[in-house]
Amino acid sequence: MLRSVISTVLYWSGFFYISHWLNRYEIPILALHGVIDTEDNTGWLPLRSFLSKEQLDKHITFLTKYYNFISLDEAHDIISGRVPKRKYCMVITFDDGYLNNLNYAAPVLAKHDVPATFFPTIVYQNQQQPFWFDRLDYAVQHNIDESTTLVFDGDQFEIDTTDKQVFKESLVKLVGAILGKYTNDLDLTRDVEVFIKGIEERKGRSLLDIYQNDKCCLAMSASDINSLAADPLFTIGSHTYDHIRIGPLDDNEVLEQLQSSKQMLEELIGRSVNHFCYPCGSYNERTMQLVQECGFSTGMTSDDGTNVPGDNLFSLRRRSLSKDIPLAELLCITTGTLDIYEKLKKMIRQLGR
Ligand SMILES: [Zn+2]
Repeated sequence: MLRSVISTVLYWSGFFYISHWLNRYEIPILALHGVIDTEDNTGWLPLRSFLSKEQLDKHITFLTKYYNFISLDEAHDIISGRVPKRKYCMVITFDDGYLNNLNYAAPVLAKHDVPATFFPTIVYQNQQQPFWFDRLDYAVQHNIDESTTLVFDGDQFEIDTTDKQVFKESLVKLVGAILGKYTNDLDLTRDVEVFIKGIEERKGRSLLDIYQNDKCCLAMSASDINSLAADPLFTIGSHTYDHIRIGPLDDNEVLEQLQSSKQMLEELIGRSVNHFCYPCGSYNERTMQLVQECGFSTGMTSDDGTNVPGDNLFSLRRRSLSKDIPLAELLCITTGTLDIYEKLKKMIRQLGR
């Protein structure tokens, strides 16, 4: 809330123009996930924030006044120094390969002639199972009416259903704690399934029962990915085979995830797959090296920030855009105005000591 107020002041005072100009050669890469149609949503909405197609349209319409949208290939060429730097460039990426990317996001992007890169995960292409965090989201929303305590691996988690924001915070905390307990996400997926089944048994409601028709969480099939790839505006990148964090894995396991996903996507779309996105932003020096050795030309992280020529292509920073925010705040984030504001505030505080 405070950020929105500050952003509004920074926007209407014109202060953002200074940072927009100062950062004119910095390239923000937006990281989005699902895009939904609020009127066509199978009767439920994930607590995890997804943009609506109307919000995406509004954001792109606004941002085109300040930025030139370029493809990830073009951004790669600028950051690597292969071509001269350009002012006010921006890139859009979508993680996880939801079918709603094809149904709702792609038409909006095509309408504005905005390129984008999509990062599907191979294992979900058969559309037999949802991501565990989506299944958990559905399970807590449809099987728990009143605030309750869930136990996972001996730890207790309060699920507070009193209001949607608090409910969401409970879920975020639970998901974060589950992720924190594991270094191998294949073990996590196996254990968390038992935990989710326990919640589903309370009322017998599971995302699995509606998954095939679910507009929010159904993954793109192989032919959906092919439809997306057929549009020259769009690029397909890899997000591993199993959507697992590769940071903690040994070299062979990382290579298996990278090579199998790259090869399968290339066979599917008939083009080379050059971009990679680290699931859950998990990466380190070794994984960056392996991503490069596997023939990828970039690696997307979840680290917040922008990119300039000369930056490491295998640890590109992104700006997360998973929820609807006021346009003034959106611009203050992408132009780095809020970063400058935070730095100034810190400097003033230190001078005052
Ligand atoms: Zn992901």
